[in-house]
Amino acid sequence: MKAVMKTAPGVGNIEVREINEPDPPPGHVKIAVQAAGICGTDIHIYYDEFRTRPPVVLGHEIAGQVVEVGADVTTIQPGQRVTTETYFSTCGTCPFCRSGRANLCPDRRSIGSAVDGGFARYVIVPARNVHALPDNVDYQAGALTEPLACVVHGALEMPRLAPGDLAVITGPGAIGLLTLQVVKAAGATAVLLGTDADESRLALGRELGADYALNIQREDAAAQIAALSEGLGADIVYECSGAGPAAQTLLELVRRGGQYAQIGLFGKPVAWTLDQVCYKELTVTGSNASVPSAWRKALRLMADGKVCTAPLVSGIYPLTEWRTAFDVFEQRTGIKTLLSPVE
Ligand SMILES: [Zn+2]
Ligand SMILES: [Zn+2]
Repeated sequence: MKAVMKTAPGVGNIEVREINEPDPPPGHVKIAVQAAGICGTDIHIYYDEFRTRPPVVLGHEIAGQVVEVGADVTTIQPGQRVTTETYFSTCGTCPFCRSGRANLCPDRRSIGSAVDGGFARYVIVPARNVHALPDNVDYQAGALTEPLACVVHGALEMPRLAPGDLAVITGPGAIGLLTLQVVKAAGATAVLLGTDADESRLALGRELGADYALNIQREDAAAQIAALSEGLGADIVYECSGAGPAAQTLLELVRRGGQYAQIGLFGKPVAWTLDQVCYKELTVTGSNASVPSAWRKALRLMADGKVCTAPLVSGIYPLTEWRTAFDVFEQRTGIKTLLSPVE
């Protein structure tokens, strides 16, 4: 079968290779991939900024159909439409694994970087990781379950969000637009911030429920947020852009005693007036990938129609056109780009 692989360490070294079709060992499931999302991590893998164990098939945001199950698998049947969590293996014994935080396990091995992933016709995953897709979620929309689970973890499980909170989100890409929908589902008032380059994304944000979607190069976001909060500032701010200036802006927009949640990754050190964390007595949270509890919530939010991932899919490409798809992602001309092995 064809597979998009990181073939060796170093910049680049990604190519389509022909590899043997895998069989599921006991406790594992073979999924015929229908759609797999390209994520910032994949771009970091291209530039060798994220650790992999080559040769390895990339792709960790997967939706597909179960075609075969290994011995001892009783929870999943062939024919089911599914998505999968990404941790192929964790140690199971460290304090993080034992407290439900396997995302922090030092021995975590994930599909698409350490173990073969979903940019291929088939992928093998542990049965315990597999979730049925809700009936109202197609494969393309289902491929966004993984980023949604990361957002649920970073937006709801790490900070505390309550109905009536005023939330400000920077970065209206896929992660920001998912964060927007999650905080709306939790009952917050949501202000989405972007720049001139984001006009179409801000418009989509309005369609997806943003109470306000502002271009900070043309509109006075600080005045708008002050007007909404009796001059106090936002109760909680979510940085989803991974851009340094946005992180600094949010420190100014959050109220005293408020919360700052970092969801985007910068890929480098950024300037941040850390004194503001003291002066304002801010609670700062970060999040790393996802935990199983976040997957259950993500799937329920999609099943209930509270989060719509389909409108975020802006392009789908065959595996052989992975480079074009990576370029589209990097140039930020779309929102979410998918690969599909289905010709
Ligand atoms: Zn991802
Ligand atoms: Zn562990």
